[in-house]
Formats: sequence, structure tokens, C-alpha cells
Amino acid sequence: MNTEFLTITQDPSHDEDVLSRAAEVIRRGGLVAIPTETVYGLAGSALLPDSAAKIYAAKGRPADNPLIVHVSKPEEAERVAYTNPQFYKLAERFMPGPLTVILKKRDCIPDTVTAGGDTVAVRCPSHPIARRLIELSGHPLAAPSANRSGSPSPTTAAHVREDLDGEIDMIVDAGPCSIGLESTVIRLDGESCTILRPGAVTPAMLEEVVPHAAVSGAVVKPALANGVKPESPGMKYRHYAPRAELILVDAPTDRLAEFVRENEGERVGVMIPDEYAGLFPGLTILPTGPAGDWKEYSRRFFSLLREADDAGLNRIYAVLPPPEGDSLALYNRIIRAAGCRILTENGFKTI
Ligand code: AMP
Ligand code: MG
Repeated sequence: MNTEFLTITQDPSHDEDVLSRAAEVIRRGGLVAIPTETVYGLAGSALLPDSAAKIYAAKGRPADNPLIVHVSKPEEAERVAYTNPQFYKLAERFMPGPLTVILKKRDCIPDTVTAGGDTVAVRCPSHPIARRLIELSGHPLAAPSANRSGSPSPTTAAHVREDLDGEIDMIVDAGPCSIGLESTVIRLDGESCTILRPGAVTPAMLEEVVPHAAVSGAVVKPALANGVKPESPGMKYRHYAPRAELILVDAPTDRLAEFVRENEGERVGVMIPDEYAGLFPGLTILPTGPAGDWKEYSRRFFSLLREADDAGLNRIYAVLPPPEGDSLALYNRIIRAAGCRILTENGFKTI
């Protein structure tokens, strides 16, 4: 298949033309990779069973991992799911934006989209290109991240091209994503909620609206998801991984420098805040931004993993971020990218 590559230029008539063409592809059952504020999504109609089947095939995604359905405004959730007052309370504060809510599905959503389940994940993205495409196509869009299953999620159109060129109809390039990690996925529990996948909407932010936002055990302890059927199947063990071996270090930065020095002769990179780059002379630095700026680190994370592979590194070292607050989502992704092994003063342990 020839994949068309189109660029958003900020010229309104050109861009509207690009999106009209993309909408036509969606309506006839094809696939278009589009930017959202989180990561690039691989979009197909959420109403056409064949579109979902094509998404699974293009990504090589396991059939038991359901897709998120994107709508252009919160009220459109009615079309695909049974909503409730709690949904609208959250929508008022967080939509459009990086929050996905699990709801009971309506019959118009094919089983292929929900992997056979009776719930559907609904999100209203804030990215203007994504929203306009949903409007123009007239279809809600099923859109997982636009990467090959298992590899780092794409935060630029070039990343999508690396993974899916020749597999999908079209890629729309509108520059890099502003958040860089996928949406927060929640389940509603009466007045409260449970976070199944952490994202830019943090537990503390949710608790401005609901009495309690619990964090599912599998978010920080993936081993829990091994063996038992995980509630959010996408949260299984190894995921988001580069080809290089990612070694997460739970120790101070100077200790990290010692671990790294033991790798003489290897092609090693260090994912480290800008301030500490000087501790690793002669090594490939994958800079994460100012120390403690978790939003910037999150924005760069997937891109840095791909840069490491492009540079031909065979090992990457990184410091383990705290499993809380603004770094909870990053922690969740980085432990999976590292296959859940952590290097401590006493050797490797698995979490
Ligand atoms: P991605 O499409 O790559 O952003 O991943 C979507 C995430 O949402 C995965 O972790 C899925 O397992 C999760 N998800 C999608 N639909 C549901 C659902 N109905 N119930 C629970 N989790 C879901
Ligand atoms: Mg994904």
C-alpha cells in the first residue's frame, strides 16, 4: 500500500483540504495517522468493524487489547456509550483533554473495537486537528497509538512513518505532540474512580472533582497483571520498548555514573537531566530537560528511546522516577520499557 504523507501548514484552506481528504479515507473504511495532544493516533471509524480489524493488523496489536474511541465533544459520548452524571462532572473539568473514561458500550460499537467486552473507552482529544477530523468524517474514531505494537509510542509523524509506512492509507503531520505520553484511563466507581493507566491527568487533579481516585495495583506493579486477567489489557508486562536494553537504576546519580563506567567498550547512552550530563563524558547523552521537570521528560521520553535506537546504542541507563504525582505516568511507561527490571545497589530486582 502507498501511504500518503500530508502536512498541516496553518494555512486554513490548505489544512481544511488535507482534513477533508483524511475524512474521506475514514468514511470509506481506511486508516489515517493523526496527531493528538498525547501521542499520534492510528485512526479508523469506530462504527465499521473492518476498520478496527485493519488497525489491529497494521499495528500487530494483540486482539485482546481494546481501542479507545475518540469523539469531538463530550456529549458525543452518548452516541457510543451509556453516560452518567459522574462522566459529565469529569468532562466539565478535563475534556477536551488527556482523560479516557470506561463506560458501558452501545450496540453501534462493534465487538472488534472493544475486544469483545461490553465496555468502551471514550476520550475527547483537545488537539484541533484530531477534533476537526472527527467532525468532518462524521464518525467517532477508534485510535490507538500509531506505532507497531510493543515499540515506543510515536510523538512525531516521522515516528509513525518509521513504524507504519506502507501499512496505512495516510499520515497527517502537524508537528510534535505537546504531552508525549498516552491519556489517563479511568474506570468510574460510583462517586470515585480508579486509574487503570496514568497520564497527564494525575490522581491529585482527579481528586479536585471526585472524592477519591485510586490507582490500580497493576499501574506500579506490572507483575500483578501477569497471570491474572488485567483490567486494562494494554498494561501488560513489556511494552513501549526500544531495541536497546534499558536499564533503570534505583540509586543516586553518582552511583549511576559508577554503574555506567563498568560498560567500557559498549555503545551506552544515559537518559539524564541536562544538569548531570557533565558526569558522563564521552557517552551519548539523551537529555530529559531540567531536573525535576517531569512534564518535559514525559514529552521527550518516547522520542529519546527512538533516538537511542537510531544512534545504534545497545544499552541505555536511566534513573527510576518516583511512582507518584507528575512522574507517575512516566514511571508506569519506563518500567515497562525496561521489562520491569531495576538495578539497585544489590543487583537486579523485578517489580
Ligand atoms: P492505546 O490505544 O495504545 O492508547 O491503549 C489504550 C489503552 O486503553 C490500553 O491500555 C487498553 O487496554 C485500554 N482500554 C481500552 N478500552 C478499554 C476498556 N473497555 N476497558 C479497559 N481498558 C481499556
Ligand atoms: Mg499504545
